[in-house]
Amino acid sequence: MPERTESESRKLLRRLRDTMAEAGAGQERLDRITHLIAESMQAEVCSIYLFRDDDTLELCATEGLKAESVHKTRMKLGEGLVGRVAKSSTAINTANAPAERGFRYMPETGEEIFSSFLGVPIQRLGEKLGVLVVQSKEARLFSDDEVYALEVVAMVVAEMTELGAFVGEGAALSALHQQPVLFRGGTGQEGTAEGHVWLHEPRVVVTNPVGDDPQKEVQRLGEAVDQLRLSVDAMLSMTEGQDKEQSQILEAYRMFANSRGWLRRMEEDIARGLSAEAAVEKEQSAARARLETVPDPYLRDRLHDLDDLSNRLLRILTGQGSDTGAEMPDAPILVARNIGPAELLDYGRKLRGIVLEEGSVGSHAAIVARALAIPLVIHAERITAEALNGDHILVDGDQGTVHLRPEETVAGAFREKIAMQAAAQSRYASLRDLPATTRCGTTISLHMNAGLMGDLPSLAGSGADGVGLFRTELQFLIRTTVPKRSELAAIYNNVLDAAKGKRVAFRTLDIGSDKVLPYMKRVDEPNPAMGWRAIRVGLDKPGIMRMQLQALLRGAAGRPLTVMFPFVAEFDEFRIARQMLLDERERERQLGHKLPETLEIGAMMETPSLAYAPDAFFRMTDFISIGGNDLKQFFFAADRENEQVRRRYDLLNTSFLRFIANIVRRCEENRTPLSFCGEDAGRPIEALCLAAIGIATLSMRPASIGPVKHLIRNVDLSHLKELIATECDAGNTNIRSAVMAWLSTQDI
Ligand code: PEP
Ligand code: MG
Repeated sequence: MPERTESESRKLLRRLRDTMAEAGAGQERLDRITHLIAESMQAEVCSIYLFRDDDTLELCATEGLKAESVHKTRMKLGEGLVGRVAKSSTAINTANAPAERGFRYMPETGEEIFSSFLGVPIQRLGEKLGVLVVQSKEARLFSDDEVYALEVVAMVVAEMTELGAFVGEGAALSALHQQPVLFRGGTGQEGTAEGHVWLHEPRVVVTNPVGDDPQKEVQRLGEAVDQLRLSVDAMLSMTEGQDKEQSQILEAYRMFANSRGWLRRMEEDIARGLSAEAAVEKEQSAARARLETVPDPYLRDRLHDLDDLSNRLLRILTGQGSDTGAEMPDAPILVARNIGPAELLDYGRKLRGIVLEEGSVGSHAAIVARALAIPLVIHAERITAEALNGDHILVDGDQGTVHLRPEETVAGAFREKIAMQAAAQSRYASLRDLPATTRCGTTISLHMNAGLMGDLPSLAGSGADGVGLFRTELQFLIRTTVPKRSELAAIYNNVLDAAKGKRVAFRTLDIGSDKVLPYMKRVDEPNPAMGWRAIRVGLDKPGIMRMQLQALLRGAAGRPLTVMFPFVAEFDEFRIARQMLLDERERERQLGHKLPETLEIGAMMETPSLAYAPDAFFRMTDFISIGGNDLKQFFFAADRENEQVRRRYDLLNTSFLRFIANIVRRCEENRTPLSFCGEDAGRPIEALCLAAIGIATLSMRPASIGPVKHLIRNVDLSHLKELIATECDAGNTNIRSAVMAWLSTQDI
């Protein structure tokens, strides 16, 4: 690279920085900047286009085009050469712009006389901010050096934009991170919340994108990279001999951290005048832009690695850790790309809501959010780039939407919705100590689902008769190593203490599928929901199952104990698992330990096959609990985690109701107590229909108990039973509309 260009580049950056330091409105600064760049690049034109909204670019300043076109000329993303640069996040360099694909002639700018065009994206960490363009009359291709120099300048303009240097009049000049933004994601956990953004990993703020002394900056970068390498080595030695997969990821990390190419590119950026941190960001932005276009999942993972490393490097350089010393705002709403279950539990019930860019319905974070009953929206793309700590935010977990910095009218409407929900909750609270008895005199027993100690206070608060499903895997998911038997026994003991004599049905570990333990070797399965999970793992690797059964027996400490096995597909699986539990009880007896006062052993019915098991199975189980989430997904062959199909089929489908009715009949014939603990049990209409077809025990999330009880107390089930029978016989696919029509005639 010629020395002359480097020093010119540095000179330009310094002048840009000085411009930023000078007083003046945003527009004046932009005008000065375009002038400086045009002069330095010896081009007749320099223009800055900034995004006005997600899809529209606006010419915000120009040297060389007609001044009248500023704030008038606009183009859509992908439209014209400028739109193409923005869309692809890559430079366009051409000697003959009018001949270029997508060229759009804009008479108001007078640009027809300019032949050469060089446009580079203005972007910061994958966030598209605008496009920087230089043009000249002479038909020439800009040299690689010039392209590079303009990219470096664009980087500084991006940082200046981020720092609010161009705030002024007009929407395109309003400060970034100040406009309202609506995110449409998916529902992870229902519920609504209003609060303030708390970034799990706050953005690194680079206050000085321009470096004064390249040598010093290269040295700072070198030292930071050394520190980074050491920390990666340390992480690697910690995982040595343990988790192979994690070591592989770290090896890839190490490869990047030691990559000469990466370091060299950053050193070149510094030579052009960037500070060390701006150089890291420039390469990180380029990697993120590539990430958008790379379809190969392996390469995408590697680019993600590079992104993570860059973040670490930036934190080393700026000294800005995750803990920036910022104070958590009131009513904090956590915003993150993703978060692990243990970290989420650390925040606990402090959070009002959670918004993630990634995540899935069955992710650990979603499981924990559900257990804590915190509204969660997933797939809110790019929210971590938009949101700032303290921003006003509304989370609608029912709709899967998020309003960031909402207009007051939106916030008002939202508050009304929250108030209505709160009013309904307080109405339900008044029912807490009343039984769920229908007008015809049938009493339905309502239980709650739980999985963490923290859930137990809801037992008294909701008026649940007991815990119908205690998902024990959460205790395993939130740890980094297998919990010890004594730890588990203590937890189960505490759970029973907190239940104060109410029945708790402990479900043994349901791992595999969507619930992968961080310390367990991951088996790559094409179809994990139908794979090696739950009781299958327990029977194949009995060590952990035995340990858990022992912990349960000890945790009971002489009190009644209820255990159920998940995902039983055939009688023998239950028979063997049950025998294991009985053997463990015998062992406890021989060891002289106190035995549970009573021991109930049940099975979860989650696969259609079990509905057709021999009568002997029904007689051997002390109770059966229908895991409707799984049972429904296998009955309809519709993945419960696939957004495209998961809501497609309904519990009120007549085939499914017939199927459940058949299970009810078999349980009645064999005198097997039956309950239902899938999500549908918490939906009032569904719960009512389950009760009508003969399921007298329902287990649901605590917040659903009030609404379900309210409805149950106001209906006559015998009418509904008849209605369901008539509708099923009439050959209808689904009875929802008929049930709704009937309910509308009732006085509820
Ligand atoms: C179910 O499948 O309905 C169930 C209760 O278990 P989980 O949701 O934990 O799979
Ligand atoms: Mg299940």
